[in-house]
Amino acid sequence: MERTDIKSMTSSEIKQAVLEMGLPSFRAGQIYKWLQVSGVKSFDEMTDLSKELRAVLSERFEIYSCDVEKKQVSSGGTVKYLFRLHDGRCIESVLMKYKYGYSICVSTQVGCKMGCAFCASHLGGFIRSLTASEILSQIHSAQSDTGIRISHVVLMGMGEPLDNFDNVMRFLELVGDDNGLNIGMRNISLSTCGIVPKIYELMQKKLQLTLSISIHAPNDEIRSKIMPINKKYGTEELLRACREYMKTTNRKIYFEYTMLKGINDSADCARILASRLKNILCHVNLIPANEFGESPFKRSDPETTEQFAQILRSHGVGVTVRRSLGGDIDASCGLLRLRSAGDKTRSGRDQ
Ligand code: SAH
Repeated sequence: MERTDIKSMTSSEIKQAVLEMGLPSFRAGQIYKWLQVSGVKSFDEMTDLSKELRAVLSERFEIYSCDVEKKQVSSGGTVKYLFRLHDGRCIESVLMKYKYGYSICVSTQVGCKMGCAFCASHLGGFIRSLTASEILSQIHSAQSDTGIRISHVVLMGMGEPLDNFDNVMRFLELVGDDNGLNIGMRNISLSTCGIVPKIYELMQKKLQLTLSISIHAPNDEIRSKIMPINKKYGTEELLRACREYMKTTNRKIYFEYTMLKGINDSADCARILASRLKNILCHVNLIPANEFGESPFKRSDPETTEQFAQILRSHGVGVTVRRSLGGDIDASCGLLRLRSAGDKTRSGRDQ
């Protein structure tokens, strides 16, 4: 019999299962807390349950977790993890320290289908989507490894969150539950390359999370060259969805713009972008590109980036030039996995 992934179950689903097993309902609360708050990796760690009950549970259910396969700590305190999943696949997460607390950047898929030219995540191909429990486990494992409490989550690691919509929605429900990790929706950001129909689906849920759009170019001509998704959903359609999103949720939208030397960093690009973002309550984050061997792209000069920011500002667009966190530790999405010879994901595909 296939065992059920219990850490992806909501508290009411666990309660129902517990009742169906003929157990008292308070057991559900105990089990749920062990899974969601403590992040235990086995039923044997649930010390307030009898040995017999633990055995029964482990026959029916499986607890998905992830183990630290590799860890890199940067000089600034950023920690990059390569986590190994139950099937041997590897994913990356990055723990970052900010003034307001600790934030973790989690992966939502093993590999990625989107194929953005400057990103390392798709280089090993697309393997599979993560379950809600596997997204949660990245937080649990980072917390237990460091002993700190994580207060913010960004869905900005490997994979496209809106291409794994249902599992990501389930993750959001679990992570925000006050009987679980209790990380409020306002402390969560979701970043997408722009799967337009899914943006509409997301806005219907009226969540208070922050939506980030990886825009990276001011027009279709440049965007289609570096982001294949743009051939399906062009910038006009995407920006229309952003305007709708803003109206429906009343939330500011963040645009991520990776500065690629000679590709998207001209003064003209800045002016076009500024004019197209008019009427959108938004903020632009300029990200220094992470360079890596397989990528032909170079990082824009700091002066070019500053000038780009200045033009946006002069048009009334809020902008931040992001510091590059963990540049010394392969902290560009997908790079650690790519560099890890031990990852079954890579070795399996390259042979
Ligand atoms: N698929 C989602 C989330 C994962 S990528 C998305 O596209 O938004 C997270 C962010 O890192 C995106 O903005 C992505 O474009 C950016 N990114 C990817 N590779 C990068 C690189 N080499 N340098 C800088 N930013 C990069």
